[in-house]
Amino acid sequence: MGRRKQTQGLCAFCGKTLTRSGMARHLASCPQRASASASQRPGPDQTLYQLQVQDAIDGTFWLQLEMNGAATLAKLDHYLRAIWLECCGHLSQFSEGGWRGDEIAMGRKIEKVFEPGLELTHIYDFGTSSETLIKLVATRVGKPLTKHPISLLARNDPPAEVCQECGQAAAWLCVECVYENQATGMLCDAHADGHPHANYGEPLLLVNSPRVGLCGYEGPAKPPY
Ligand SMILES: [Zn+2]
Ligand SMILES: [Zn+2]
Ligand SMILES: [Zn+2]
Ligand SMILES: [Zn+2]
Repeated sequence: MGRRKQTQGLCAFCGKTLTRSGMARHLASCPQRASASASQRPGPDQTLYQLQVQDAIDGTFWLQLEMNGAATLAKLDHYLRAIWLECCGHLSQFSEGGWRGDEIAMGRKIEKVFEPGLELTHIYDFGTSSETLIKLVATRVGKPLTKHPISLLARNDPPAEVCQECGQAAAWLCVECVYENQATGMLCDAHADGHPHANYGEPLLLVNSPRVGLCGYEGPAKPPY
């Protein structure tokens, strides 16, 4: 797949639409986020980590997450599997300095891992791999937004794809077209219906994940909570 226009996404607090880097900056000053963050949940204050997550290919797919400092990387791994990656229970790993760099144990706490400038690589499936980059944007001290260890602050909208046959909006992907015909494989509803290829399975429904078309991934690409 070629380079695409930067995707935009919605701020979960105020509904503003921005690109990945614009969103990272916006969240620091979003008034609705500030008031949501000030609401009093029980329990002590803690350090919360705003993490920018993106696919390692071109950053079309991205997340802005807020994560409790005391939570472990295993919670982040679980979250990434649910929202983007899980197909058939492959191995995954966090590392520093690229995926061949130093592995960081899943049991490590966020507050013991992230410091400004550090970028972690997450790899899911060492065969047909999906690589994800995670870096620290900011921290704040206060109450978490929810009882869960991670909150979704923003996420890219599904990238706009067009049907390879007619140029209309695409909702399906034919993997055979990608691998055998050097085509985009993108298909609209009408052209997915009765598409002649089945060697790699029927056309897949496009979901908002960087893993569409890899291994047996079929979504649902929804956050776990
Ligand atoms: Zn906002
Ligand atoms: Zn798989
Ligand atoms: Zn079409
Ligand atoms: Zn095809």
